[in-house]
Amino acid sequence: MGRKLRTALFNNKEIKIEEASEGMRGNLTCHICNVELTYVKGYMKEINEKTYYIYPYFRLIRKDNDHSSVCKYNTEGCLTIIAKNSSDKILEDLKSGKFNFRLHLISDSLRKLGKTEIKKDDLNEENPNSKSKEKEYKKNEEKLDSYLSTMKKIMELRSVLEENKDISSKVTLEFYNRFLKKKQKITWNNFYYEIDKYGDCYSYVKHKRPQHPICIAGKIKSITEPKPEYDFYSLKLESPKPIQEKGAHKIPVIEIKVQNKKMDNMIRNQVGKNILIYCKFWALEPQSWKEDKYYFLNVKGSLVHKNQLLIFEEKDID
Ligand SMILES: [Zn+2]
Repeated sequence: MGRKLRTALFNNKEIKIEEASEGMRGNLTCHICNVELTYVKGYMKEINEKTYYIYPYFRLIRKDNDHSSVCKYNTEGCLTIIAKNSSDKILEDLKSGKFNFRLHLISDSLRKLGKTEIKKDDLNEENPNSKSKEKEYKKNEEKLDSYLSTMKKIMELRSVLEENKDISSKVTLEFYNRFLKKKQKITWNNFYYEIDKYGDCYSYVKHKRPQHPICIAGKIKSITEPKPEYDFYSLKLESPKPIQEKGAHKIPVIEIKVQNKKMDNMIRNQVGKNILIYCKFWALEPQSWKEDKYYFLNVKGSLVHKNQLLIFEEKDID
């Protein structure tokens, strides 16, 4: 039900979540707009046989009594600001509380950037094409930076909301499929996956081969350092419990290659952190192990831009 908060007013005195207790319920309000809040105490949440601790937070007491439209914790207000600052209306404010995200703009500018990549020959000053090519590259790079920073703001907003439907009810996703030559609506459930949906993610990517990028949330399980034969960092996310099917155990595995070397410093020492990744993914054929008792369902992606990755800790939510 909306945003998780770490600060509130208790009897008009500002308090942090660490100072809060159940006895304060009934006397808590938003420190900005004064709407009534309640206290959700920390709890253990079981997802796929693993237990995670959910930190305590404050949230709205009633869904129909939202933060005021000018409060920074109002989801719609937050989206309105992101839309206003987004270039080329990549996030378009359709008014009446609905927003449209044009996913294809990101894929188009990624493709254009790849096409205009500056090669060594282009740096030759006698080459008359080099200047205009460099200009073109810069233009595409700037577009991509601004589109991805809008995407990152949406991912940040999702990470502080309690539930998927807090955002899926407000944002629709649009993608222009170049092969079918038509616009498609992508549902939030086909776009955004948490650990309990990795199996669905594998099926969607494997069978539908979507052209649009998708967003995966998870926890970094391990990081493999670059080697001479494979000179890239790669991350694996924690996998869910195996899915039992026809006597075999199937385990979805999400693996991401860090293709952009400039991101290496962001990645080091991040094992155990929660992340959100936004990129195009592909799936391999199921890989069997131990005489077909286990099957790995591999989903792979690669990162080329720093704004495709968001690393956060549960405690960062304000
Ligand atoms: Zn408020």
